[in-house]
Amino acid sequence: MTAVDAVVVGSGPNGLAAAVTLARAGLSVHVVEGAPTPGGGCRTEELTLPGFAHDVCSAAHPLLALSPFFADPAFDGLRTRMEQPPVPFAHPLDGGRAAVALRSVEETAALLGADGPAYRRLMVPLVEDATDVVATALAPLRLVPEHPLVLARFGRVAVRSADHLGGRFRGEPARALLAGASAHAVRPLSAPLTAGFGLLLTVAGHAVGWPVVRGGSRAITTALCDELHRLGGTVEVDRWVTGLGELPASDAVLLDVGPAALPGILGDALSGPYRRALARFRYGPGVCKVDWALSGPVPWEAEACRSAGTLHLGGTAVEVGRAEADVAAGRHPDRPFCLVVQPGVVDPTRAPGDARTLWAYCHVPHGSDRDMAAAIEAQIERFAPGFGDLVLARRSVTAADMADANPNYVGGDIGGGANSLRQTVSRPVLRWNPYRTPVDGVYLCSSSTPPGAGVHGMCGVHAARTVLHDRFGGPPPFAR
Ligand SMILES: Cc1cc2nc3c(=O)[nH]c(=O)nc-3n(C[C@H](O)[C@H](O)[C@H](O)COP(=O)(O)OP(=O)(O)OC[C@H]3O[C@@H](n4cnc5c(N)ncnc54)[C@H](O)[C@@H]3O)c2cc1C
Repeated sequence: MTAVDAVVVGSGPNGLAAAVTLARAGLSVHVVEGAPTPGGGCRTEELTLPGFAHDVCSAAHPLLALSPFFADPAFDGLRTRMEQPPVPFAHPLDGGRAAVALRSVEETAALLGADGPAYRRLMVPLVEDATDVVATALAPLRLVPEHPLVLARFGRVAVRSADHLGGRFRGEPARALLAGASAHAVRPLSAPLTAGFGLLLTVAGHAVGWPVVRGGSRAITTALCDELHRLGGTVEVDRWVTGLGELPASDAVLLDVGPAALPGILGDALSGPYRRALARFRYGPGVCKVDWALSGPVPWEAEACRSAGTLHLGGTAVEVGRAEADVAAGRHPDRPFCLVVQPGVVDPTRAPGDARTLWAYCHVPHGSDRDMAAAIEAQIERFAPGFGDLVLARRSVTAADMADANPNYVGGDIGGGANSLRQTVSRPVLRWNPYRTPVDGVYLCSSSTPPGAGVHGMCGVHAARTVLHDRFGGPPPFAR
């Protein structure tokens, strides 16, 4: 094993973003991945039938579109593959109605009837300042904010619950639209900060859309690996790391793993207090995911849903809230809240001829081994009667399967840890710099560090900047 400047364990988007950031600083970098292919949460495979390309994990990419890391010219080619569905996200309601988030705030507001003016008042200033809102959301919360007014405007709503946010509106469409976006927090909608998820994702929908990647999210991994290889970095697959002694000699090791894996990998080197702090880290509910090969597009009753990239299924805001509360309490909802992505709306390469792929998951209790395919299909059928007739093949993955496939998804939690208030400021433990561990030269760079889940690469970037500062004379990691 040749010695290198830095080793990264895990090739998810954060691991690869860390590797690229270090290689750009002139370091020699080697990435070790346990799975047979790189990419972690960014992979695309023929999961059902030959010729049907399914995103194994991430499918819709508003956070990538907003990420300063992916704005680099090195990713120009990737950005040309980002396809924008005409409707970033839609929320069907019974009776053939739907609430829709369009790219334009004005057009979205116009569809919300009496709630239009309140929606406009909430969104216009945030969308105008979207770059600063996002810079705040994707930065570790360790700095005096560069844009205090923007932060104050966003923060005073974002720290509240989704229920509180919904209370600004009288009609069901606006309430449901924001409840669906807020449910990405995988928390009860009465919990603090859930409004922040809904706001950020809705602002993103207006500012940059919710694009899907032509050919699938594996193209993100290809772009990251190409950039790393161009800079001289290397990626090795099929090698699960169980201890630091298995790695090539290096000045720094960056772990794209969750806190649950740290004690095993670091062994006795891990100090008692840090180990105890890690033990207080909480993972959240899991997901059960289903992929379908379909003979044609989903026959959504509401016309606008047919051109949506992403759909939130769950009915009214109250129903969505009930489903999320059930999951948090350890119950499987009869009518689960489901996230659905139909890439075929803008990407004909995913399936042959008129056929389509469909991707969906619902939230389930942590560690669940229940196959929710029937419950998810019932929710789709509710808003798209006749859906079942199109199914050529399906594949479902329970939360327990999820955890088996990727050790970072403990209990099927795909977000790398619960999105509680505590874990927003102390992720994974309360430290000024959460990317450092107490073991000399060892750093964390996964989505269990700030800013958390999603394909944006920023956990990796912040961790790499910390390494460059600590080991290679770089500037302070959180300096502007
Ligand atoms: C079903 C699903 C749907 C999602 N949908 C979206 C979406 O639409 N949009 C979005 O932005 N995000 C989505 N996400 C979340 C997103 O994929 C993750 O937040 C992101 O991939 C986290 O990146 P990461 O690099 O921290 O970890 P991961 O992507 O999980 O990568 C970690 C890598 O480390 C490897 N690894 C772990 N332990 C070891 C070890 N000991 N030795 C060697 N290798 C190891 C793993 O095999 C894996 O490849 C989704 C995730 C899932 C699972």
